[in-house]
Order: sequence, then C-alpha cells, then structure tokens
Amino acid sequence: MIHSLVLDDEIQQYVHDVSLREDDLARELRLITLELSEHTMLVPPEQGQLLGFLVGLLSATTVVEVGVFTGYSTLAMARALPPGGRVIACDVSEEWTDIGRSFWERAGVADRIQLELRPAVETLDALLDSGAAGTVDLAFVDADKESYSVYFERCLELLRPGGLMVLDNVLWSGKVARSDESDPETDSLRALNSALRNDKRVELSTLPVFDGITLAYKRADR
Ligand code: CA
Repeated sequence: MIHSLVLDDEIQQYVHDVSLREDDLARELRLITLELSEHTMLVPPEQGQLLGFLVGLLSATTVVEVGVFTGYSTLAMARALPPGGRVIACDVSEEWTDIGRSFWERAGVADRIQLELRPAVETLDALLDSGAAGTVDLAFVDADKESYSVYFERCLELLRPGGLMVLDNVLWSGKVARSDESDPETDSLRALNSALRNDKRVELSTLPVFDGITLAYKRADR
C-alpha cells in the first residue's frame, strides 16, 4: 500500500516556506484564534489558502460556508471573490464570528460576507425556499459533524452543476476507519463517507490532508 507522506515539523515548515502566502492580517486573525480554548477548530493556514484557490479556480461568485468559527476560512474565500461576490456564512456563535467580523472589515471584504447567525439548516432551507437551488458555486462544510448528511443534501441542492462541495474533517483523526470507535460524530461522518462512495450525483475525491477533506462536485447530468 502506498501511503501519503506523514508531515513532521520540518516538512510542514517547508510547505509553509515554499507555498504559504498568508498575509499579516490573516496571520493576526490566526494567532488571536489560537489563543482560544477551541482553537483546534481553526483551519490550518494552507487549508484557508486552498479554499481561496478553489474559489478563484471556479470563478465563484456565490459561496456557502457552514461553520464560520472566527472567520479565517471566510476571510480567505471572500478575498478570492470578485467585487459583488458573496459568502453566505452560517454559524450560531456571535462571540466567535465577532472576532472574524472586525478582520473582514479591515480586509475590505465585509460587504461580500453575509453572516447568518442561526442554525445552518434554517439558513440553507431559507435559501432553497427563496429559489437559490442550483446557484451556489462552492459550499464549505465544517460545522457540527452529527449534521453532515443534512448539510450535504441541502448544499448539493444549492450547488450549480459543476459546483464544488468541500467537506472538512472527514477522517476525524482516523476514528472513522477504526471499527471499534463509535460516537455520534464518528458514526455520522462514517455514514456519510460510505454513502458518498456510491452517490452518482457527485464526482468524488477524498484527500488525506489536514483532518481529511472530501471534494465532491455536482455532476452536470444530474
Ligand atoms: Ca474543521
């Protein structure tokens, strides 16, 4: 079996040295977030950069983010949007998103971020009710793991043909692969991972980077 490279600190630092383009503002937000006790929810900076990269690659104008935390990923995606583009950012925490909000303003992209402070399912359903099905270019799902299947279905409906979903933490520190592990989060992620394997509505690639990312784009013929 060919394994992915396991990154030690030296290789990780090398990756940062040769490819990370995080600027001072994003770095400041990251360092502030790392001081919070919940800092493990922060995406790594290279993942933020990947999200911005994907927004640019898709020429995205409409992005849905499920799970904002302190808005590091939101900032990365909003900056990659053209003027007039929009990130519909779903979260339930005013405390955490307030941190991001000040950075979005300083970056000059606050007008591209529509923060929705209520359970994400309510926001996604409201979008669908308003006729937004088939209009979203990219959806980034990184919220409570028990609801991933629900988020997947709603976001898939919202995506345009060819639109991309990015699901974070799908390997859940490897717990999904160990049959003796069972808890609501692990079971939920495992069920979604298994279901996606045979879901003909999407093309699929699971990347064993970070905590596991699944990229799924909506097939045009579905
Ligand atoms: Ca995450």
